[in-house]
Amino acid sequence: MGKSIDKSQKAIRVLFVAAEADPIIKVGGLGDVTGSLPRALRNLVPAQISGHVLDVRLAIPFHAAIKTRIKDPEFVTSFDVPSHSGPISAQTYLTYIGDLPVYLIDGTPIPPDGPVYNNDTRKDGDKFIFFSLAVLELARALDWQPDILHANDWHTAIAIYDLMLRRSDEAFFENTRSLLTVHNLPYMGAGTDEALAYFDIPPLHDPRLPDWGAYQPLPMGLASADFITTVSPTYAQEIMTPAFGCGLDDFLRQRSKNMVGILNGLDEVAWNPATDKALIENYDRETLSKRAANKKALLEEFSLPPKLDFPLMIMIGRMDYQKGIDLALDGLREISELPWQAIFLGTGDPLMEAKAHELEIEMPFRVRAALRFDIKLSHRMYAGGDMLLMPSRYEPCGLTQMIAMRYGCVPVARATGGLCDTIIDQPSPEKSTGFLFQEATPESTADGLRRAITAYARHDTWQLRQEYAMQQNFSLQHMAEAYAQIYIRLHAT
Ligand code: ADP
Repeated sequence: MGKSIDKSQKAIRVLFVAAEADPIIKVGGLGDVTGSLPRALRNLVPAQISGHVLDVRLAIPFHAAIKTRIKDPEFVTSFDVPSHSGPISAQTYLTYIGDLPVYLIDGTPIPPDGPVYNNDTRKDGDKFIFFSLAVLELARALDWQPDILHANDWHTAIAIYDLMLRRSDEAFFENTRSLLTVHNLPYMGAGTDEALAYFDIPPLHDPRLPDWGAYQPLPMGLASADFITTVSPTYAQEIMTPAFGCGLDDFLRQRSKNMVGILNGLDEVAWNPATDKALIENYDRETLSKRAANKKALLEEFSLPPKLDFPLMIMIGRMDYQKGIDLALDGLREISELPWQAIFLGTGDPLMEAKAHELEIEMPFRVRAALRFDIKLSHRMYAGGDMLLMPSRYEPCGLTQMIAMRYGCVPVARATGGLCDTIIDQPSPEKSTGFLFQEATPESTADGLRRAITAYARHDTWQLRQEYAMQQNFSLQHMAEAYAQIYIRLHAT
């Protein structure tokens, strides 16, 4: 059972909605955050948040992949979601992540098989628009009036728009305030037009938005939200510029008084090399030498030569243009004369996967590409790799580099977005946590790698870098307090 909220205190009720949430279902960093943040919020004590209590509850779609794992969820309620061809029934089940109540919403638009996300957004339209409309209906069915509706990314942005449309007519939602968090701006839900029409959702003609924004979930949500957050301070600045704003930079500048960047926090219990059960050998900052056993085992696992004195690079993430996998591959080609080995873990764009496989064929003694989603392997790689390669073209926040640092794996990353806010690149190694390079080009990536490989050769100072990286506090608590303050402010308006 979840922690019950002290009834003597009037709690601020927060309905937190997202497409995924770890550990129930995780595809990427969104799942890490939406699994950990609502729990951290719920567990804040009144002394930390000006005497308030937060009753946070999470809702996610009951994806096919969840059904194979949660066999007997507790049925809670059912209700109808209106559509052009009549009401569609939605069923809600309850489960928990620790203390956090999680509502799983089901219905015919949530396919009984298939992935959480399709590469073709049109296929996801029905699922996420249905889910977005279901969340307010769920609140009504539970007779649980939310003070705050907190949605994440395009998948749930229509819930915010739906709230704006209903708030003036429905007393139940009159005092509900809304917050939309942007985890990845370019994914706006383009291609969901048919689903929007099917669910009778009118376009949003807002003079601040470009014309196309009237028909895409994310801009519709951004224009309707009472407040907007994004996941790092630098990304909040970047998206107000033409280079990163994806056509919404002008609109976002107009909303800047109601927008802030809050750095994502890392769940330091889930990601802890001292206790991580997936590792061959546990270690901490004081026992860094034990790390070597993890590297040795990883090289063995991938049948790579046991060259323990060569830096082992790892790259973990979605294989797509954003993450710059092509820059990593070409950057490595440029430094083929230097000592290194590399293991890639990722899935995504078939073209990028094929390119990674090509390098593996080209350099069989030093490169491996594991083209799959494998959480346990990712843990072993963070613990066994010496350097994490992250040449992102843009990076709203990035958790991968934070996890790597926590495991003493030093990031070599492009200076953009959250990577700027989390990685310290200083001349003195004891005050450095990684290496930043400026341009999204193979040459710049290779420059960053050369610097890192040169530094790696000095084992004593390399260890100082690892220790400082492991010492960084990417506090989930701090993040939760920042969000709580926004809820409190919104609730008071
Ligand atoms: P994203 O832009 O995908 O959200 P982040 O760096 O914020 O990127 O988070 C990625 C998260 O997903 C990390 O927890 C990372 O370890 C995990 N991850 C990504 N790809 C894989 C994979 N192929 N196997 C296992 N974990 C993965």
